[in-house]
Amino acid sequence: MAKKKKMAAEIEFPVIELKELIKEYGTDETCIRALDEINLTIQKGEFVAIMGPSGCGKTTLLNIIGLLDSASGGQYALDGRPVDDLSSRERAGIRGNRIGFVFQSFNLVPRLNVIENVALPLNYKRGFRYNKLRKASKILKTFELQEREYYMPHQLSGGQVQRVAIARALVNDPSIILADEPTGNLDSKSSELIMNELRDIHRRGNTIVMVTHNPDLTSYASRIIQMRDGRIARDSARKKTSEKKERKRALNSYLQNAVENAQPVEDVA
Ligand code: ADP
Ligand code: MG
Repeated sequence: MAKKKKMAAEIEFPVIELKELIKEYGTDETCIRALDEINLTIQKGEFVAIMGPSGCGKTTLLNIIGLLDSASGGQYALDGRPVDDLSSRERAGIRGNRIGFVFQSFNLVPRLNVIENVALPLNYKRGFRYNKLRKASKILKTFELQEREYYMPHQLSGGQVQRVAIARALVNDPSIILADEPTGNLDSKSSELIMNELRDIHRRGNTIVMVTHNPDLTSYASRIIQMRDGRIARDSARKKTSEKKERKRALNSYLQNAVENAQPVEDVA
């Protein structure tokens, strides 16, 4: 019996497995099929970039993967377990502990300061408040926000709000990160901080699924999926470039961005 149990634990299931997954919004005449029989398997440790035109179903797919919404048909197994079998309590537990959502629509709590906002996901766990705040402080530092810890959200710039929201999504070391255009609306410096953090998280063995419009960002991914009209139009592994080459490419794109966004310098007498 014990041996059987051990063997079961040793089988590695894909983290995410979708079979003929369908999502429809509305009914009858107004029905929109946002996802049209998606088959997708994502293994632990993959960094998947999802691209495709607006309205092709990218956000819908992330919402279903993140258990924020459920499918209209087909199957979804998370770690080998069909999600239909999960109670709403179990779903909430998985969302809170295992999944980090980097979604622009997830706002900060206005009456809490920056560090309290970031520590929020840790409040559902046991532990000393001091340790939770220390953990929040540490991640704020990686995002170069250490001087903003005691600011209120309304005192921050848009880019800073977004970085704080991302710090909050990552503070409890989720093993699956779902990111919906994580660097949209951000300046190149903030984008770089966020992408470097996602890269570190990926290197620690976690799984990342990131929607992006920016082809430059797919260089961080190990696999690129193109969606069209609710279907997967292309699914390709990215060729491995050497780290040196990758750094050079990232630097070039950063410099190009900086030049494009440069403000003209006013003459000083
Ligand atoms: P993307 O993120 O690729 O831009 P979405 O997943 O947001 O695409 O949307 C896919 C399709 O589903 C679109 O046609 C969109 O209008 C529709 N859709 C998305 N959310 C809803 C909703 N809550 N109710 C009705 N239709 C929706
Ligand atoms: Mg979207």
